Amino acid sequence: MDTTYDVVVVGAGPAGATAANELAQNGHHVLMLDRMGRIKPCGGAIPPRLIKDFEIPDHLLVAKSRKARMISPKDNRVDIPIEGGFVGMVNRNEFDEWLRQRAVGHGAHREQGTFERLTQDMDGVRRVHFGVRDGRDGMQMKSVRARFVVGADGAKSEVAKQAIEGAEKTKYVFAYHEIVKAPAADPSHDPDRCDVYYRGSLSPDFYGWVFPHGDTMSIGTGSADKGYSLKSAVTRLRETAGLGHVETLRKEGAPIPIKPLPKWDNERDVVLAGDAAGVVAPASGEGIYYAMVGGRFAAEAVRECLLSGNPQKLKLARKRFMKLHGQVFWVLGIMQYFWYINDKRRERFVKICEDKDVQKLTFDAYMNKELVRKDPMAHVRIFFKDLAHLFGMIRT
Ligand SMILES: Cc1cc2nc3c(=O)[nH]c(=O)nc-3n(C[C@H](O)[C@H](O)[C@H](O)COP(=O)(O)OP(=O)(O)OC[C@H]3O[C@@H](n4cnc5c(N)ncnc54)[C@H](O)[C@@H]3O)c2cc1C
Repeated sequence: MDTTYDVVVVGAGPAGATAANELAQNGHHVLMLDRMGRIKPCGGAIPPRLIKDFEIPDHLLVAKSRKARMISPKDNRVDIPIEGGFVGMVNRNEFDEWLRQRAVGHGAHREQGTFERLTQDMDGVRRVHFGVRDGRDGMQMKSVRARFVVGADGAKSEVAKQAIEGAEKTKYVFAYHEIVKAPAADPSHDPDRCDVYYRGSLSPDFYGWVFPHGDTMSIGTGSADKGYSLKSAVTRLRETAGLGHVETLRKEGAPIPIKPLPKWDNERDVVLAGDAAGVVAPASGEGIYYAMVGGRFAAEAVRECLLSGNPQKLKLARKRFMKLHGQVFWVLGIMQYFWYINDKRRERFVKICEDKDVQKLTFDAYMNKELVRKDPMAHVRIFFKDLAHLFGMIRT
């Protein structure tokens, strides 16, 4: 009989590598499967909370943004200093590989292969089938047995499609960016500043970004509108930002799920994490932190199943995640729906960001991943200012 793993983790991005690491660290027999060969298209912005909770070493941060500039349709620029903190920037090839190596260091096995399908052996144990390149342009099929499977294979997850009811109904936005060489000694580009453009001409329902990455920059945008040309929008964004002339190193895009799936497990032996489970924050598109939290919760839930023999414990992954972050996702969803709808609203939104209370609450929430309760009067002030903006009592 071939080896039976406690857990096979399919996909080793931030979600899968975190799940594999935590399970291996707890002494479980884990296989981490990833097809590799493609750098995940991603702006690579991560909050301090992630760095702290997941013990990310400083050398992986290629830049630290200490300021965010919000730019409105009429070119109103609001600079928000990130007091007492920063937004970390990582290059996903180095970041993901470091996370995988950490899991291997704690005892996870690693296999390069493309997940194909799940079947069941006669004794009821799962069999995970995957293809491995044979070095002559062909593919050799292999399989392993698994008590549990963590599906962390990203947006449009094949594991979710095969094992989780309702996964095929997931909706996506598409995001596209170009990695360019950072211009040398150009006073208009602060290597410590993230620029965020709210403009219908750069995205009808999301935002455009210019993120510094040390020697390089990520310039991108996103939209749920399938007919919208993201490539043309990025060309416009580069011209607008004065980055049309710099050398382009990569052009790449990927889907982003827009809503957590209603079910993350099959009540038996499969549980999802990260983009596969649909967890990317609305309005910001932030997914790395939530993928890692999801990976951690999936690992915890599987561990509790292994210890108790009760597969109902798989449900805990989604339950715990939504308890912590469901409210923030809900608020961000409403925010995106309301403020990103047309240029008039975007203009007001950037205007609101001039407010010191809004700046503080927004960045505290981003950096620490908690809705701030320390200063309840700030919420009240923002509420009334929001109303004033809504009813047009404040001019933009
Ligand atoms: C253009 C763009 C910009 C973004 N910018 C940011 C940002 O600045 N900050 C942020 O927080 N989030 C950002 N996101 C979102 C973020 O990238 C994702 O939410 C995050 O990567 C999700 O992590 P994950 O581990 O769930 O999935 P992924 O990172 O997608 O990892 C999935 C892994 O599964 C593997 N895989 C897939 N299919 C198979 C298969 N069949 N067999 C084997 N392996 C497989 C892949 O190789 C990959 O390694 C951005 C997304 C896009 C598209």
